[in-house]
Amino acid sequence: MQFSSYADLRSSLLSGKTTCEAVTAGYLERIRSHEGDNIYITVFAEEAMERARQLDLKLAGGAAPGRLFGLPMAIKDNISMKGVRLTCASKMLENYESVYDATAVQRLESEDAIFLGKTNMDEFAMGSSNENSAFGPVPNPFDSTRVPGGSSGGSAAAVAAGLCMVALGSDTGGSVRQPAGFCDIVGLKPTYGRISRYGLVAFASSFDQIGVLSLNCRDAALVLGVLAGVDPRDATSSSHPVASYGEEMDALSLEGLRVGVPEEFFNEGLNPDVANIVRERLESLRERGAELIDIKLPNSDYAIAAYYILVTAEASSNLARFDGARYGYRSAAADDLSSMYVKSRTEGFGAEVKRRIMLGTYVLSAGYYDTYYKKAQQVRRVFQDRYREALGKVDVIAGPTSPFPPFGIGDKTADPLEMYLADVYTVPASIVGMPALSVPVGYDSTGLPVGIHLISNFFEEGRMLGIARHLERPESSRKPAISNH
Ligand code: GLN
Repeated sequence: MQFSSYADLRSSLLSGKTTCEAVTAGYLERIRSHEGDNIYITVFAEEAMERARQLDLKLAGGAAPGRLFGLPMAIKDNISMKGVRLTCASKMLENYESVYDATAVQRLESEDAIFLGKTNMDEFAMGSSNENSAFGPVPNPFDSTRVPGGSSGGSAAAVAAGLCMVALGSDTGGSVRQPAGFCDIVGLKPTYGRISRYGLVAFASSFDQIGVLSLNCRDAALVLGVLAGVDPRDATSSSHPVASYGEEMDALSLEGLRVGVPEEFFNEGLNPDVANIVRERLESLRERGAELIDIKLPNSDYAIAAYYILVTAEASSNLARFDGARYGYRSAAADDLSSMYVKSRTEGFGAEVKRRIMLGTYVLSAGYYDTYYKKAQQVRRVFQDRYREALGKVDVIAGPTSPFPPFGIGDKTADPLEMYLADVYTVPASIVGMPALSVPVGYDSTGLPVGIHLISNFFEEGRMLGIARHLERPESSRKPAISNH
C-alpha cells in the first residue's frame, strides 16, 4: 500500500483501514528489496515492527494518537539514537554506538513516529554526492548511474524510492536541499537554531542544522512543527516562538507577494535546461498575482570560497575529538601515543575528511589566519548584511537549487573544486543562517528532477513553505522513481 502524504496515511490508520504493523511491514519489505542500493546503513527491522504493534495497541486502547502517529521515518546516520550504531558513514565510527538520543529524535518519538533505520551519507556530512561514504555510493532513484546528491543522499533516496515517508538530514551548506532537488522531493533547512543540534555530530557548528526531507510541503510543515523549539541542551537553539507552520502555509496568498530573483543566480554556470524550467515555474507565480522582482546580490561568487574556509576551519576543530582514544576506531598498528593518534586518524578518515582537516588547520594557522579565516568571516558579515537588506525589499529569494541536474557517479570525484560548485546556490543561506528549501518543480528534457530553491527571512519557514506549495509540481505529475518496484 502506497501513500502520497502523511495525511493520507494518518486517516487510513485512524479509521482502521490499515494498521501501523501492516504499514511498517510494507516499508520494511521495500527496504529489503532495495538492499543492493545501499540507502540504509542500519535497518531496525524488529524494533520497528515491535514499535508498530505497540502503537496499534495504544490506539486500540483509546489513547490519543501523537501528531506523527505511525509515520515511517529514516534518520541520517550522523544523528544520535540511543543504543544504536552512529557511523557518520566513516570507518572511524563504524562500530560506535550512541549513548543518548538526539533531542530531534526524542521529539519525533514522543509524537509516535516509527524509525525504520539510519541512512547513508557522505562521511561526516562532507560532500555533495554521497560518494564520500565509507559504506559506498547510493544510486539516484531516477537513474541508477547518477548520484542522489549529498551529503544526505541516503535520506533523500529513501524518501524518493518509498523506503520511508519522511527522513531527517543535516544541512551545513546544502546537504538537505541539494539531494532533495536531485531526488524530486522537498528538503527544508530551517533558520539556524530553530531545531536543536543536541545529538547531531558536529561538522561546522555555526552552520549545522537538522532538516526535513519529505514528499511534499505539508509533511515538511508538520514535522518541522514537532522538531522546532528551544532546547536547554543546545545553547544555540532559539527561543523564538514556534509558529503553526501548516496554518501559515495555508494562509499564504500570492497576491502582491514580492519574489526576488537575483540575476547572479542565472549566470553562465547554470545548465540552460534547468534555467528554463526554473524561469517558467517562477513566471507561473506572476500569473497568479505575485510580483517577480529582479534583484542584485553582488559578490555571490565569493560564497563558495568563504564557505569552504569557514566550514573547514570549524571541522578541523570539531573532528579533533576522533583521536583513537575517545571514540570509535583505534589503529592496531600503533605502538605509542603519538603513533596511535596519527595512525588511527590516517586509517579511520577518508580522503575528503582529511583534505578538509588539513585545509581547516591551514586557514587557522597563525601565519594565514588574517588572510583566510578572518577575511572569510568578514565576507560572512557582508553576506548577512546583503541578504537582510534584500529580504527587506522582497518576501523571498528564488532561484535554482543546483546549477545542473544529478550528475554521473564518478563524474566529479577527481576534482574537489568541481564538486564544491554543486553547492553554489545553497551555501549563501547557510552563511547567513536563514531558512531555505528546495521544492520539486518538474523534470528536465531527459526526465531528471529539477528543484527551485527559496530563501526567506529568519523564522519565516511557514510563509516560505506557503510559497513553495504554489511551485510544487502536482502530485499527479510526480514521475515514479525507477527503482520503485
Ligand atoms: N556539500 C557541502 C559540503 O560538502 C555541504 C555539506 C553539508 O551541508 N553537510 O560541505
